[in-house]
Amino acid sequence: MTGALEHLKQRIPLLDYLQQRNWTARRVGAHPEFVGLCPLHPETRPSFYVNADKNLFYCHGCGRGGDLIRLVQLSRNLSFRQSVAYLQQQLSPPVDSDVLEKAAAFYQFQLHRHPEAVQYLQKRGLCDPALIEELGIGYAPGGILRSHLADHGYSFDQLLESGLITPQGRDTFCRRVIFPLRRQGAIVNLYGRSMGAAFPHRLLPRSKGGLFAWDSMSDRSTVYLVEGLCDVAALWQAGFRHTTSALGTHLTSTQFDQLCGLPGRVVYIVFDQDRNQAGQRAARALARRFVGIPIAAFLVPLPAGHDPSSYFLSGAGSNDFLDCLQRVQWV
Ligand SMILES: [Zn+2]
Repeated sequence: MTGALEHLKQRIPLLDYLQQRNWTARRVGAHPEFVGLCPLHPETRPSFYVNADKNLFYCHGCGRGGDLIRLVQLSRNLSFRQSVAYLQQQLSPPVDSDVLEKAAAFYQFQLHRHPEAVQYLQKRGLCDPALIEELGIGYAPGGILRSHLADHGYSFDQLLESGLITPQGRDTFCRRVIFPLRRQGAIVNLYGRSMGAAFPHRLLPRSKGGLFAWDSMSDRSTVYLVEGLCDVAALWQAGFRHTTSALGTHLTSTQFDQLCGLPGRVVYIVFDQDRNQAGQRAARALARRFVGIPIAAFLVPLPAGHDPSSYFLSGAGSNDFLDCLQRVQWV
């Protein structure tokens, strides 16, 4: 039983679990530690800490702490056994990849009917229609997906289970640019980037799968790793096709294992050059995870304040990026 529980907790990293439920956090210090508002009690100043390596949380506000199962017990008011069952269900939801495909296709269709979404992509430097098509980017205007899928015969419960609608029956994604996340060809999740004031990043409450578009580069000896999907798009557009993203700076064990899957691989970490150094610290912490593994990890220094997307948007070209690669840093 202990082994099975450990396995369960490894499969659903605590940080992923929280982020999939829209927990926002910032990294503290050099350790993989994050702080944000406590999901267990109302507060205005963050006192809820998560150690992503140890998979543990502690709240200095309400004094509660523990592992993922404990968090589920407290947040959903379930017994230990019920919490384990709940998590097992999360791991193997009857993934109806079909409904996600239909939703993604619908969103893709909507993109062309909403010029504001196309303009948003252009503003982010994404203007190649072929690339937009290839990435399967769509747009969720909000409020119309549910009836569309109901017309295709999906019941309320099926849609609720897929995460595409909320328990109140509203579309989960509203005014968001949508990127489908695929694994072995099948859509495993959808990522929605807010165009408005809402929290920028949102995933459906299911696993984010592995690294973005990994199927197309899993045999590559050189890989670029960036923070976000707009960064991926910018680098793909500039010709650097072996660029992937973990959707953030913290890699799950699945994503980390993917990078380590080819001995001798060179991983260029191109995280945001944040004024508060958050991206740089995360990049260094990640690079240290490769120590002792036959993977060469380098930090790519972009000009201060830039991420790959903003760098290309500011007028940089592929040669400028190649110059940055010349200045890579060892950890
Ligand atoms: Zn608390």
